[in-house]
Amino acid sequence: MTYPIFQITVIEGDGIGVEVTASTFEVIAAAMDMAGGFGLERDEINAGARYFARHGKDIVAGGEARAGEADAIFLGAIGMPDIRHDDGTEISPHLRLRERYQLYAGIRPVKAYPNLPQRLADPRASNIDLIVLRESTEGLFYSAAVHNRSQVIDDVEVRDILKISRSTTEKLHDFAFRLATKRKSHGKRGCVTCVDKANVFRSMAFFRKIFDERAKHFPEIEKAYCYVDAQALNLVRQPWEADVLVMENMFGDILSDLVGGLVGGMGMAACAEIGDHNGLFQPAHGSAPDIVGKDVANPLAAILSGALMLEYLFDRSGVQAPLTAARLIEDAVQKGFEQNRLRPAEFGGDMGTRAITSEMVQLVHESK
Ligand code: ATP
Repeated sequence: MTYPIFQITVIEGDGIGVEVTASTFEVIAAAMDMAGGFGLERDEINAGARYFARHGKDIVAGGEARAGEADAIFLGAIGMPDIRHDDGTEISPHLRLRERYQLYAGIRPVKAYPNLPQRLADPRASNIDLIVLRESTEGLFYSAAVHNRSQVIDDVEVRDILKISRSTTEKLHDFAFRLATKRKSHGKRGCVTCVDKANVFRSMAFFRKIFDERAKHFPEIEKAYCYVDAQALNLVRQPWEADVLVMENMFGDILSDLVGGLVGGMGMAACAEIGDHNGLFQPAHGSAPDIVGKDVANPLAAILSGALMLEYLFDRSGVQAPLTAARLIEDAVQKGFEQNRLRPAEFGGDMGTRAITSEMVQLVHESK
């Protein structure tokens, strides 16, 4: 019987990116065994700081174009603090991929799992289950060094631009409302909060204005507003109240790390970056050179990003099997923590990268 084969670009990148990518595809293979009905074909692309150090380029020739032809892109991690451009910035070819393929919707799910260290004493923190939706192509990152758009006035002043465009912002807010609609159908609150600084910046007032315009098309979804500084406070005081939080790029960069910290740490922080025609999936953490090669990296952020990728393949194609595989992985993580079978070294547990990977494969296989 023939079944669909999805083309996946894989960029393992630097540091622990290599280790967590290997784990992810081992677990995906187990989920594919169980779900059946689809296949993946991998196209490995060399890119990152190590590649730059050897070849003077941050991605293999033709790599960016090849990545765009795939059904999805999976990325481990990119960047090494001691390998930099002359201006001091890090090697970041993935930022160009974001820009080239207009991956505007940066999704950072944040969920509390049982038996993970809870940073907040309030027992309601065990109910944290929210999404930070970070616009990922403009905002203040429009001026990220890799794009070379800053106004540099000799050695006396540098100006970075924060860009909010109508077209991207409309799509972003629509994405947020659709996400909330999907979550509401699974029993979540169904509320989108516009996180901004509309009281101070015209760009942010514009961001909010478009939010209000688009909200009218989703009357069944609650809408809320919060200034970014108050949101930072609320995320520490009552993160269990939040559902979908939509915001500009730099605000999202900062707040997603904050909430990631509330439910454990970077090793649990999955991430998807989705555009109209492409999707890139990667753990939110970096290459963590301090722990590379020690078998201590927590691969669950990458594995959960792999599950987001499978869900995206379903959204894109309508083929049910990748969604089934995604659910098998997510359920395995939930069950693994519930039964205390996942004990990442990252949180003082006794399981390194390989042990967590094997246990995940086992958990997925048990889900028959
Ligand atoms: P970047 O700027 O590229 O995002 P960063 O400087 O924020 O990177 P990370 O590489 O994300 O730093 O990691 C910060 C620290 O968190 C690491 O040095 C490491 O100790 C820890 N860490 C990150 N990811 C993991 C992981 N998957 N498992 C265990 N520890 C991790």
